[in-house]
Amino acid sequence: MPYFRPPSEAKSFILQATIGCSHNKCTYCAMYRRDEQKFRMRPTDEIKQIIDSAAENPGFTRVFIGDGNALVMPQKKLTEMMQYVMERCPQVERISMYANIGDILRKGVDNLKELKKLGLQMVYIGFESGDEVVLERIQKGANFAQHIEACKMLKEVEIINSAMVLLGVGGVERSEEHGVATGKLLTATDPEYVGALSLQIRPGAPIYNEAMEGKFQLPSKFQMIRELELIVENTTLTDGYFFSNHISNYLPIKAKFPEDKPRVLKEIRRVLNERDESMLRPDYYRDVINQY
Ligand code: SF4
Repeated sequence: MPYFRPPSEAKSFILQATIGCSHNKCTYCAMYRRDEQKFRMRPTDEIKQIIDSAAENPGFTRVFIGDGNALVMPQKKLTEMMQYVMERCPQVERISMYANIGDILRKGVDNLKELKKLGLQMVYIGFESGDEVVLERIQKGANFAQHIEACKMLKEVEIINSAMVLLGVGGVERSEEHGVATGKLLTATDPEYVGALSLQIRPGAPIYNEAMEGKFQLPSKFQMIRELELIVENTTLTDGYFFSNHISNYLPIKAKFPEDKPRVLKEIRRVLNERDESMLRPDYYRDVINQY
């Protein structure tokens, strides 16, 4: 503890097969920085015991495999675990997990196809930005082209892609570039779901020290909404949902693309024109977030 899961997995059984994050380099991330959260995989026997306990209370139909990037697990270990989930919990309809672009590429189409057959329906990917400069600075570990290649593989094997982007992560300096390029990345990868979050600078994350030293400046709330405008403006989805209703955001939007794009852009622009803070979600909510 603590473990993290997407808000939409609130009713899922969380199977913590790994602890921490094998990448653990993203400069804005403070999730797994404690010594006891150092990355490791649970032994298969231990994972099976957890699944056995879950099977005794089968009040769930979805399983989320944690922590940070469970897709890093060797294919044999992962498939054995997923097979065991399906065997012991036959009511399970969907398995999902966070996935890192590098791990998707390393798995390749054949392994992903096998995982899909075993129930992997959806992966959550932290794109954060489409701007190469920002991706490099935040040490995301993947560039624009790699995101496209990995997401193409997901489309090929029909695993749903839920992509997260992070308002503010380019700082004041790269704010406009970040907004435009992130929209372009979303268009190029065409995820089924997009979740926009807004950066919070937390102690423990390297970006916190950068901010303290004056090397990183968080954009203002309206600047982050301007980023949202740029992202939406530059995003074309074939058939997807775009949400910014995460509690970290100042302006929650829910849209089905492509049909709702004009409505949402109008809404964002009205807020940017009026600059009335009472139209925004209060800062209070950003202070109480404890999950990502
Ligand atoms: S953001 Fe995700 S991939 Fe990056 S360090 Fe945190 S958990 Fe790992």
